[in-house]
Order: sequence, then C-alpha cells, then structure tokens
Amino acid sequence: MSLPATKPVYDRVALIGLGLIASSMFWAIQRAGLAGEVTGYARSETTRDTARRIGLCDRICDSAAEAVEGADLVVLCVPVGAMGQVAAEIAPALKPGATLSDVGSVKRHVIETVSPHVPEGVHFVPSHPLAGTEHSGPESGFAELFQNRWCLLVPVEDTEPSAVMRLRRFWEGMGANVDEMEADHHDLVLAVTSHTPHLIAYTMVGVADDLRRVTDSEVIKYSAAGFRDFTRIAASDPTMWRDIFLTNKTATLEILGRFTEELFALQRAIRTGDGQHLFDYFTRTRAIRRGIIEAGQDTSAPDFGRGAKGKA
Ligand code: NAP
Repeated sequence: MSLPATKPVYDRVALIGLGLIASSMFWAIQRAGLAGEVTGYARSETTRDTARRIGLCDRICDSAAEAVEGADLVVLCVPVGAMGQVAAEIAPALKPGATLSDVGSVKRHVIETVSPHVPEGVHFVPSHPLAGTEHSGPESGFAELFQNRWCLLVPVEDTEPSAVMRLRRFWEGMGANVDEMEADHHDLVLAVTSHTPHLIAYTMVGVADDLRRVTDSEVIKYSAAGFRDFTRIAASDPTMWRDIFLTNKTATLEILGRFTEELFALQRAIRTGDGQHLFDYFTRTRAIRRGIIEAGQDTSAPDFGRGAKGKA
C-alpha cells in the first residue's frame, strides 16, 4: 500500500466522468494524499447524486466547466467515443498551465479528437491505466485498482517534459508502474492483449447463449472455469467496448485476421489428427502464461486463487 505523499502532486484535480476508473482514482488519490482537492462531474444527475451519497470527490459539480475551473490536472474518464465532445465542452474553462489527460483505452483516436480543442498553454498528456474490472459506475471503484498495474503515458509531440514527469509521479502515487509509449504502438499492443481477447470472449459467450436455447440451462449449470472467465470478460460495459472497437479499427482487424488464420490451422490439425501441431502450439502458449506470472501481472494460484475462497 502506498504511504500518504508528503506533499500533493497537484493542488486541484478534476475528474470528468465518474465511473469505475474515476472512482478508483479518487479513492487512490485520497489514500495517498496526492491532491489538495478533487472535483468531479458526470453528465447524469443520478450519477452525481450517487457520487455525493458515497462521498466520491471532495466536491461534485453540476457542470463540467465548473469542475475544471482552477484545476491543475483534468482527467477525462468517459468512453473513448465521447472524449472529443467533452474536451470541446471544457476547453474554454481550462486554466493556463494546467495538464489535460484522459484514461481512454484507445490512444490515437483520443489524440485526434481531443488535440484540436486543447488551448495554447495547456499540456495534453494522454494516459491509459491497464487495470479494470467488468464492473462500471461510481460505486464500482476501489483504491487498490492500480496497485502494481501498468499505466501507459502517451505524450503528444512537443509536450513539456515536466508535465509528463508530474503525471508520472501522480500515477506512481496511486500505486501504478508507469511507462511511455507511442500512440499507434499502444493501440496495436492493446489490440493483442485486451481488445481482440474481449471480442473473442463476447463471441464465445454469444455462441454458448445460442446453444443454451437448445440445451436449456446446461451451459450455465456446468460452466467450468474456461467459459466462466469468458462470461466475466463479456459482462464488461457495452458502451465502452463498442467505442473501443469503433476507434481501434485498424489494429483490431489486423490482429483478428491473424487470429483467424491460426484458428483455421488449429481446426485443420484437429480434423487431420495432427497431434504434434496441437501439442507444440499449446506448449508455446503455456510458456506465455508463465511469463505473465513471472512479471507479477497475475497469480500462479490454481483457478486464479478462487479455490481458497470456495466458489467465486
Ligand atoms: P464507466 O464506469 O462506464 O463510467 C463512464 C462515465 O462516463 C460515467 O460517469 C458516464 O456518465 C460517463 N459518460 C458515458 N457516456 C458519456 C458521454 N457520451 N458523454 C459524457 N459522459 C459520458 O466507465 P469506466 O470503466 O470508468 O471507463 C472510463 C474510461 O476508462 C473509458 O474511456 C475506458 O476506455 C477507460 N478504461 C476502462 C477500463 C475498464 O476496465 N473499465 C480500464 C482502463 C481504461 P453517467 O454515469 O452520467 O452516464
């Protein structure tokens, strides 16, 4: 657990959009004392009321402009497809010298849609914390979400290095490991590690749902770990994932094309009884899992550690 910072990294932080990521950020900021004051704004009154009720942010504002006024750091925590429109809305109220950031899962699209609205003298430093759950909304956040997870900073050309350094300290204070990456590379890496796997999970759960109609409830009743994990991933927020696929089109289609080719090769190996192909393939993929555990990005406990707590 991070210890409270001796001094806040920013005097005023504004979180725009109050879902899983923003609420986790607030609890992590508060835990580590990273900001003097945190303001928050969400477009719906229901979300703002919930935020006030659970004590999310020091102050919940009724307009995005009011929330960002005087803020040293503004973080856009809305779906990727809404970033440009929200940036346009807040731009006139941004303080000169402030840093504008976001947490969107796709970077090239966010840079293209937000950059035109960034006023002279405001530092735009896009970011992406590689941490999440299948839950959404203001009540789903928790302070430990970013602990030992990566946060990628994707500075645009000519960004002031001191603004990047400050944002890095901020994310490190929330427990994240921070790296910098170029936008297109980020989108390709995420297409491999997150976006395409989500699409496959959505498809598998959809196929099983079709089958369920035939076999009644057997698919759910006997769902073993593999399928259960797919259902967890496929329960993620539909708006967020629709936006990710529409805005990371090129990279996702590229990886999906490669995936389909490999799937056909495995299909052929099964049909022709080529056990060696299957064995070699599965040996290679098992080593990848070992690498993830060695990198500290998952647990080696059987069934992701669920066994110890009984049924998850
Ligand atoms: P979330 O829990 O669904 O919350 C989304 C927030 O954005 C809500 O406050 C919602 O407002 C607001 N919003 C939705 N559509 C909007 C629009 N058209 N205009 C203005 N505000 C809008 O989402 P989240 O999981 O925190 O994700 C936020 C961002 O983080 C996304 O860009 C996502 O790609 C990125 N991200 C997510 C994860 C993850 O695993 N969840 C991980 C890393 C990065 P209302 O509540 O008022 O509707």
